[in-house]
Amino acid sequence: MKLYTIIAGYFKLDGGAMHGVVPKSMWQKVNPADDNNMCSWAMRCLLIDTGDRKILIDNGMGDKQDAKFFGHYHPHGDETLASSLAKHGFTHADITDVFLTHLHFDHCGGSIVRDGDKLIPAFPNATYWSNKAHWASATNPNERERASFLKENILPIQESGQLKWVEAADGEEWLPCIRIRYVQGHTDNMMLPQIDYNGQTVFFCADLIPSAAHISMPWVMAYDMRPLDTLNEKRTILQEAVDNNWLLFFEHDPKIEVCTLVNDNGRVKMGDSISL
Ligand SMILES: [Zn+2]
Repeated sequence: MKLYTIIAGYFKLDGGAMHGVVPKSMWQKVNPADDNNMCSWAMRCLLIDTGDRKILIDNGMGDKQDAKFFGHYHPHGDETLASSLAKHGFTHADITDVFLTHLHFDHCGGSIVRDGDKLIPAFPNATYWSNKAHWASATNPNERERASFLKENILPIQESGQLKWVEAADGEEWLPCIRIRYVQGHTDNMMLPQIDYNGQTVFFCADLIPSAAHISMPWVMAYDMRPLDTLNEKRTILQEAVDNNWLLFFEHDPKIEVCTLVNDNGRVKMGDSISL
């Protein structure tokens, strides 16, 4: 197995929303805000090459939205999903599986591209993976989450016939060496891959722990549907992670790709920042 970090670009989100109850005086030392209180975040995806399969975990926000939409999220940086795949010798057509942790636009928007007036899969040879419970809430969203679930990212996946459900139970293997953990705090039934990478566990944190700073317990995003569930889920996962020397992979940290953890008198903290 080989792992590759794939950067699908950077974007901006409101610093207050990203840090929940944490005061700006604290978070802006970690991730300084611009004049509109927006901070820069990565859309960092993970490509798992098993030899037989090329599995892409999440795919950024894509490029099919209009200027008004992108005006809200300020995509920036030189890297794109295509250029980052190409850097490692891959194209969209090589991807056999697109695993979607959840269907918020900044995780699944690269799934679908515009072709004239049609919306078609960006990965023509891939099976797309979601789960039934998450799909049901994403296609019938509550008012608070509606702006993150865009119909044009989601429905064409099903219409293409390339969609399948992940049916592994919590902690079970979905594919050899890839277990799935389910969490409910950020959104309904988000899936977090726990990868056995040649004997070392790499945990894809998605929006449970979007950046290294969010390892700290009170740092929970205001976007989360059930912040107290996030707190408990973080506590459980971080304890397991530090006890077993896992590496955490951050989807949104603007700089830190992967880190180790240390136990500091019962508090789990970041150890070393590393790259794959
Ligand atoms: Zn999300």
